Amino acid sequence: MVPLCSPRVGRHPGVVPLAVTTNPCFQRNTPSQVMSDALRHDWSTEEVLAVLQSPLLKLVERARTVHGDHHGDDSVQLASLLSVKTGGCSEDCGYCPQSSHHSSDVENGGLMAHDQVLEAAREAKELGASRFCMGAAWRQVRDGDEFDRVLDMVRDVGKLGMETCVTLGMLTQVQAGRLGEAGLTAYNHNLDTSPEYYDKIISTRDFEDRMETIHHVREAGISLCVGGIIGMGESDHDRARMLEILAALDPHPESVPINALVAVAGTPLEDRPPVDPLDLVRMCATARILMPESRVRLSAGRRQLSREAQVLCFLAGANSIFYGETLLTTANAECEEDRRLLRELGLSPLAPDVEKPAPVPSAA
Ligand code: SF4
Repeated sequence: MVPLCSPRVGRHPGVVPLAVTTNPCFQRNTPSQVMSDALRHDWSTEEVLAVLQSPLLKLVERARTVHGDHHGDDSVQLASLLSVKTGGCSEDCGYCPQSSHHSSDVENGGLMAHDQVLEAAREAKELGASRFCMGAAWRQVRDGDEFDRVLDMVRDVGKLGMETCVTLGMLTQVQAGRLGEAGLTAYNHNLDTSPEYYDKIISTRDFEDRMETIHHVREAGISLCVGGIIGMGESDHDRARMLEILAALDPHPESVPINALVAVAGTPLEDRPPVDPLDLVRMCATARILMPESRVRLSAGRRQLSREAQVLCFLAGANSIFYGETLLTTANAECEEDRRLLRELGLSPLAPDVEKPAPVPSAA
């Protein structure tokens, strides 16, 4: 078992050194640049685009500096993700094999039994995960028996001493409050892409629907897990816009998953070419610079990355991964391989932190 470390404690002795800083070609950031990497919520699209498109080594070095300034340890959050209700979703997200609008091989299922979910959470904990995420392929939460059962899952997974996260689609303010009362740590609700590109990917909801749920989650005092996906045909401008909007959230989302499209047969995006791993490095680095204190999570698509590309993502500020051999309906990296890689890099799994952020009044 890999030893656990507490959040925000002293530097791990085996930390990956920033080897490039002794090379005169890679000057350290100036004090004014470091100042500019303090917490901000007013990044313009042009500023974000300039960061995203800056020379890769300088971008990674800047992100590494920001990371060192804001994270006092070398921990990586390990989050396991279980699909507790699979397939048959009425939304038409172009990347998703669980949509009823597409013809993937995913089989529809009902809400998983409570004991099965608990068993999966226990296993994830034994393997070293600190956060257990449960996903249901719903457009929105409906009050009733199934939501009550999810609330029970949240309560009982929390009793295992794990952080809990759910992704259930759109929520009302009252439903967010009930999740908060059940002890939910985090709610995942990705922006997916930019507002301008949104209707190329999804037609059954709009970007504003997304933002409304995000505000409800904040008001309930639940931490936010909000990120997006690259590789869906969007431009750098769209990627910058998505990051700009994430960074405008005040406070920043506590977790920012960066996903690379996994092109699944039967979905409208099945023929998209694979994402360039260096584009993922750029997204991790830019997210780190814009949202210095967030957990930047290397998410879907990690299985397609070489070990070397993953190392670059960690250097660029990623400090969270989805951990476990399945991500909802697609395969993920092997747990043993992940543990070996973290050991080699001198990174340690983060212990659960169940402290919640204060509720934030919604501007919506
Ligand atoms: S809402 Fe979620 S489950 Fe439904 S189609 Fe979109 S990504 Fe898939």
